[in-house]
Amino acid sequence: MRFSSPQADIYVPDGSAPEAALSRVTHLCVAAHQDDIEIMAHAGICDALDRPDGGFGGVVVTSGAGSPRSGPYASCTDEQMQTARRHEQREAARVGRYAIQIQLAHPSADVKRAAHPGVAADLAAIFSACSPEVVYLHNPMDRHDTHVAVFRRCLEALRSLSARRRPDRVFGCEVWRDLDWAADADKVALDAGRRPELAGRLLACFESQIAGGKRYDLGTLGRRAANATFHTSHATDRLQGITWALDLLPLLEDGGPGVESYAEERLARFRSDALGRIRAFA
Ligand SMILES: [Zn+2]
Repeated sequence: MRFSSPQADIYVPDGSAPEAALSRVTHLCVAAHQDDIEIMAHAGICDALDRPDGGFGGVVVTSGAGSPRSGPYASCTDEQMQTARRHEQREAARVGRYAIQIQLAHPSADVKRAAHPGVAADLAAIFSACSPEVVYLHNPMDRHDTHVAVFRRCLEALRSLSARRRPDRVFGCEVWRDLDWAADADKVALDAGRRPELAGRLLACFESQIAGGKRYDLGTLGRRAANATFHTSHATDRLQGITWALDLLPLLEDGGPGVESYAEERLARFRSDALGRIRAFA
């Protein structure tokens, strides 16, 4: 199995062949950067571990180039930082007992170009080599440019699959900007409160991102807990942690909405909910 970037990295924790590892993936997350998977798809990591036939697959599309460096990493070169981040992602895959971890190592600029041949070929190869039941992607209303670009490239790849090869469920998960604001009918509560000890260990793998004082680990765990607490005002918390996600399946249906219409519909429901409450108590 080969990908278009010479820096692409394939890691199979149990040592089996990549093709075999991909074929047993039941839960697949395709994300922009090292650590996004562990922030957004903890529910999928747990679901895969909870099933005897489960296999979690992680794909990181970009190289991690140009990432901020601070604390003990302040004097690292960009190449050293990319190596450190690649290693950290491998370590997370080992800790989470993923079936496979692929790092495609594309520059962000390439991912932001529609139909970049290398990005498109790599994503097509991955989606064609596995049949996941659930796919976790970035959501179209994320605040990070590269996240939205990776989401769009993944959507292009999924849409090009024949209908019978498309996954049963596709979620667009929160990372930069929460999805708490979305109407309940539009969002799905991913149960991210399970295996709290594993969650902490997975997030702690990304030391190069945390060491400078930016505590993605604490922020992620805090957001999951807050999402569960503030979900409903009257019920006691059924879940210990929630990652909010948008159901992206409508975007895969033939004749379904385009990404802009899909986003506009959800924004309109938020607008109407917020303004409706203000007007109700005039
Ligand atoms: Zn990211």
